[in-house]
Amino acid sequence: MSGHTDMVLVDENGMRIDGRTAEEHRPIKIEAGVLHNADGSAYVEIGKNKVLAAVYGPRECHPRHLQNPQKAIVQVKYNMEAYSVSDRKRPGTDRRSIEISKITAEALEKVVLTELYPRASIDVYIEILQANAGTRCAGLTAASVALADAGIPMRDIVPAIAAGKADGNVLLDLNKEEDNYGQADVPIAIVPSTDEIVLLQMDGNMTRAEFDHAIELAVNACHEVHDLQVDALKRRYSKNQEASQ
Ligand code: UDP
Repeated sequence: MSGHTDMVLVDENGMRIDGRTAEEHRPIKIEAGVLHNADGSAYVEIGKNKVLAAVYGPRECHPRHLQNPQKAIVQVKYNMEAYSVSDRKRPGTDRRSIEISKITAEALEKVVLTELYPRASIDVYIEILQANAGTRCAGLTAASVALADAGIPMRDIVPAIAAGKADGNVLLDLNKEEDNYGQADVPIAIVPSTDEIVLLQMDGNMTRAEFDHAIELAVNACHEVHDLQVDALKRRYSKNQEASQ
């Protein structure tokens, strides 16, 4: 997020480098139940981002000192594969992946009925196979579907998407160039039934009015992402029904 480039990110007609208008998100594809050996799973594409989420549990929490006698804990491991970006990323955990794992777990804990499973752990693995900005949102979107696919009781399914600012324009769902050279990036996730915001971060600077507009764009888009999450789960459910007949 440097805010400086000779590249035109938004042209005089308001078009972005990938042909979108300011208020358009990239094409989104969501599939539930893509892995046999996990309790629940999902695959999400948002533009060039490709993300896999797998869920195990509820199961006994290890290490034991993390057990909570009142409720389950949600443990998330966000991992960006070395081959997911154009400059090979150093494999393994880094500060960024620890931060993203933490904020993702906190967002999911807002909807999972953790009180039903004292001392248990619900383990969520997010693998970024291909990255093009917005991976924390794609990962959280996939993780929510994977939790539902695992049959874990939740108040709602959490969708996430970012808005931001580039070339002085408030934009929905920044791509890599807009994220790198734009002026602000605001990933958000909501509980669709209440519009409660369960993840909100901000990198860069915006005016108050721009921030309000970015939130409005992202909340509206979150509802669209939620519809796609529900569709994916319905398709998965009807496939299961067919297979059992
Ligand atoms: N990125 C990268 N190498 C890294 C981390 C990030 O190339 O080690 C790229 C990747 O495309 C990522 C984008 O920078 O999607 C934006 O990263 P950010 O930390 O803002 O998180 P994201 O937008 O993916 O949630």
